[in-house]
Formats: sequence, structure tokens, C-alpha cells
Amino acid sequence: MKSSPLATISDTKLLSNIKTLVNKEREFTARIIDHLAEIEHRKLYSELKYRSLFEYCVKELSLSEDQAGRRITAMRVSLRVPVIKNKIDKGELSISNANLLSSFFNQSKTSQQEKKDVVHRVAGTSKRECENILNSIKKEKGLPNSPKAPHIRNETQDTVRLSLSINKKTMAKIKKLKGIYAHKQDTDLAKIIDLMADSLLEKEEAKQIPKQKSIKTPKKKGRYIPKSVRAQVFKRAKNKCEICGSIHALQIDHRKPFALGGDNSISNLRLVCRNCNLRSGIKVFGLEKMKRHGLYAPERVIEKTSGTGRFNF
Ligand SMILES: [Zn+2]
Repeated sequence: MKSSPLATISDTKLLSNIKTLVNKEREFTARIIDHLAEIEHRKLYSELKYRSLFEYCVKELSLSEDQAGRRITAMRVSLRVPVIKNKIDKGELSISNANLLSSFFNQSKTSQQEKKDVVHRVAGTSKRECENILNSIKKEKGLPNSPKAPHIRNETQDTVRLSLSINKKTMAKIKKLKGIYAHKQDTDLAKIIDLMADSLLEKEEAKQIPKQKSIKTPKKKGRYIPKSVRAQVFKRAKNKCEICGSIHALQIDHRKPFALGGDNSISNLRLVCRNCNLRSGIKVFGLEKMKRHGLYAPERVIEKTSGTGRFNF
């Protein structure tokens, strides 16, 4: 058997090396979070045609879904509660504990000062200790124990295994639906969820696509895009972002920006998701100008993000 390259190293050196390596690992983790925040800020993943930072992390950086999710959550909670980032930088808070803090803050209404105090209380603790501290604070505040977050893992190429906690009332509704569809084939739970998703999607997509009355070339001047033109743009794009393929938060974008003289003709319009629209705006106008005109609300200042209005450049 080939001997370890460390076989000849002294005990003292071995123990001191591992400390250095672990410190370096912590330092890298903190720097990775900084980089993710900046990439998110610039919506750079849209440039590479990814629908989200998560998709970018998994497909471009080859992180596992779990690694990507935990790092992104840690990054987002650090932006909302900067003291978390300070603690991560100093190696006093792990990514796991930052994730625990994130779900704790999502559950309970706490002021910035209270958040700071909680972070100080859990700094330097293990995951188990952190969980215990947060549970005892919940108890003090009379907060219920949160249901476990859904657990999703890939099973086969076409299926995922999903386990989640739902309340009994929801289960009763699902059972009722199962009864209604009982005369159809294959009405197992998975099929019911599929039917519910189809029904919701149909409803939401119908809201996004305005009813098409007549297709005319737009005559009105200004930013207003007639419903008939919007409908054509949605139809041509098959209800997907024309850049990354996302189906979320779709908006109509001017290929040549309206502010630079672009018109409302169908050839100058395209359907894009909010992220891709923001990225296009950043590329043309620059981040600073976007922020000045209230077109971009950076995540790093969101305690309560105000609505950012239209992103129709
Ligand atoms: Zn997109």
C-alpha cells in the first residue's frame, strides 16, 4: 500500500497544519459568501442564462444542491443582519448556524437589536447548542415549534423524493380532492399534487396573458404597451423568459431601451424574467444609475424591501 504523503511529518507539524487548513477553509467560506452576494447583486447568473443564483451554483460551480442552498441562505441572512457576516468572517459562526438563524428570524418578528443579541448568544456554539438556544428563545417568546422544512432529494432522473410536514386541515383537503378524482385513474398523492400545480399554474398564467381582442400595431406613444401586443409577446415567447427560460416574474422588456428611443413594436419587445430584465438594465445603464432611479433595490439593504415598481426599460 502506498504510504500517505503525510507519513513522515511530525505529530506537532501535523496538528499545526490542520489548524491552518481549517482556518483557511473558514476564510474561503467567508470569501465565497462575499462573491455570491456580489454576483447576486449584479445578477451575473442571468448573463450566463441561469434562472437563479441557485441554478448557477449547482450547474456552473458544481456545488451540491444542499451546499448551494446553505451558502445562499447564509449569504442572504448576512445581508439582512450584517453581524452574522462579521461572525462568519471571524470563524465564530458556521454556515449551518447561519441557516438556523435564518429560519429563526423568518419565523419570529425581531428588531435589529434583538437579532444582534441572538447572534451574539449563538456565536461560537455547535449546531446542536445553537438549536437548543434558539428553541429556548422560541419558548420564552411563546413561539410554536416550526414545522420541518421540506426535504427534497433526487431519486431517479425523472423523480424527486419529497418529505414535508403539513397540517391536518390541509391533509383533509387533499383527501377530499382524492375522493373527487377517485373515478379517474392513478389518483395517488403525487397525481393530486400534479393536478393542483396544473390548476394553479393555469390560473396564474391566465392572469399574466391579457385577453387578446384584436392584434394591431401599437399607435399610442409612451411606455404603454397595448394588451394585444403584450399577448403576442407572451405567445411568441411561449410564456418563458427568452433569455434563461424561467417562468417566474415575467416582464416585457424593450430590446432597445425605451429611454434610449426604443419603441413598442413587437420586434423591439421581448419577454424576460425579473432577474434577466435587471441584468439587461445593469448592462445598459450601470448599477448606480439603476439605483438612483429606483429601478433596483439591492438585497443588501433589505430589512423591508419596498416595491421597486416597473422594470420596463
Ligand atoms: Zn430570465
